[in-house]
Amino acid sequence: MITYNKSEVRKKLQAENIFELLQEWGGDPEYTDFGILSATICHNQPGEGSRKLYYYTNTDLFRCYTDCSSTFDIFELLIKVAKVQWNREFDLNDAVRYIAIKYNLAGEEIELDEDALSDWKSFNTYDRINSIEIKDYHATLKEYDTIILSRLVYDVRIEPWLREGITNDIMKKATIGYFPAGGQITIPHYDKDGRFVGLRGRALSQVDADMYGKYRPLMINKQLYNHPLGMNLYNLNNSKDNIKLSRTAIVFESEKSCLKYASFFGIENDISVACCGSSISAYQVQMLLDAGAKEMVIAFDRQFQEIGDAEFKRLTDLLTKLNNKYKNYIDISIIFDKKMITEYKDAPIDESPDKFLKLWKERIKL
Ligand SMILES: [Zn+2]
Repeated sequence: MITYNKSEVRKKLQAENIFELLQEWGGDPEYTDFGILSATICHNQPGEGSRKLYYYTNTDLFRCYTDCSSTFDIFELLIKVAKVQWNREFDLNDAVRYIAIKYNLAGEEIELDEDALSDWKSFNTYDRINSIEIKDYHATLKEYDTIILSRLVYDVRIEPWLREGITNDIMKKATIGYFPAGGQITIPHYDKDGRFVGLRGRALSQVDADMYGKYRPLMINKQLYNHPLGMNLYNLNNSKDNIKLSRTAIVFESEKSCLKYASFFGIENDISVACCGSSISAYQVQMLLDAGAKEMVIAFDRQFQEIGDAEFKRLTDLLTKLNNKYKNYIDISIIFDKKMITEYKDAPIDESPDKFLKLWKERIKL
């Protein structure tokens, strides 16, 4: 496997790249005299922390002045963000690779040097996510020019998705397209008011999916169409009225599940949103409360092979944590496929409306 030289990658990274990354991770960054000021996404979910994470352009280092009270570089920040927002364990190589690939910074076939490793050992352990207070905090995400959408391809049949039961009508309504240069299905993201705030691609090739992650923001003509995933809910623009009426919202991990839900049960019954990760931020819960939801149904993927395995433990820990964090704000129920009627890694909506309804009826209240 190609490994990337950490200091090389860090040297090539521009302040604008750092700014973009902070934006994508929900830090709501701003430029200042010394560098960049951001919310403390190092130990908080987007929209939760105070603005106490400083990036100094003279040293290329971050300092968190609250819980972390330590200094770290962009790679360690990414490791923290991966843990807090995506529930994923990144090591240093993962972090360097992620950023190198994202910004097309050439890799060299060398292993991490000793310096980098000892540097690494001194880094702090992850911060615990403490119980949080939901703040009445509203941010307006940057809007992108929709002209880019007209440059994508729409007259192709997205066979893999059609085969899974997503209808052409729903795809058309969601402006699902194709980006030939990237070999990706394109998924525009809108905020609750229908403003175009991001464009994500779903890799069609398995190799790309393994390398870059299944979903990632698109980069077209040097413009990266990213947005802080934790500060928006995919599909809320379409489902908000139904959520208000039924007082219930279903939170899936991925965009595709929302498209499937609408295909199976109709737009007029659509109460689904996607958090676009495997965690739900306080900001997203606030968005659901604002939309009139009284119950939040968490419908995450079956990310375990058998009851009691390591992944099972990780998933149940995550769900317990989410429940503890938000139960005082909203009723929480969890769709959990303990009888394993769906396949490993499938979303509860993935296989059929019948299976989904069965899981829905058996959803758990902790
Ligand atoms: Zn911190």
